[in-house]
Amino acid sequence: MVKYTHILVASDFTDNSGMVIKKAEELAKQMGSHLSLLHVVEPLPGYGYAFVGSAEIELQLVEEAKRQLAKLGKQLNVKDNDQYVEVGPTKIEITRVAEEIGADLIIVGSHGRHGLSNLLGSTANAVIHNADCDVLTVRLKDKI
Ligand code: AMP
Repeated sequence: MVKYTHILVASDFTDNSGMVIKKAEELAKQMGSHLSLLHVVEPLPGYGYAFVGSAEIELQLVEEAKRQLAKLGKQLNVKDNDQYVEVGPTKIEITRVAEEIGADLIIVGSHGRHGLSNLLGSTANAVIHNADCDVLTVRLKDKI
């Protein structure tokens, strides 16, 4: 059986992120894989310069993300030093962290959009095209 030793799961904390987490948790359990968690805080749009208070807001977003990730980590038994909160473009940060920690599988959600929104590019698409390792996309069922 093929085994992944280190899985990185990227969570955006949205309502349906539970589907991605559940699948990652089950796969990690089945394969005895090391599991790491990642949330990315996108930099606030500053049009080339920081607006007053932007650094403070970003800091608060990072702190809140750390709290949420810690909660998730506790639930999944993932240690503090396997929980990553990064600031930057999500699509780049997911693959960068995967390389940095030597993950051999990235798990992200995918809305399976078509047409224009697909052309504009989803996170899952970008990760699939940029990652050096395998990527599992979990199909998310949108509530429309
Ligand atoms: P999206 O393209 O925004 O619909 O996101 C698809 C998937 O990318 C999500 O289900 C997550 O797995 C991942 N993702 C999106 N945004 C973030 C984020 N800020 N931090 C970590 N993962 C994210």
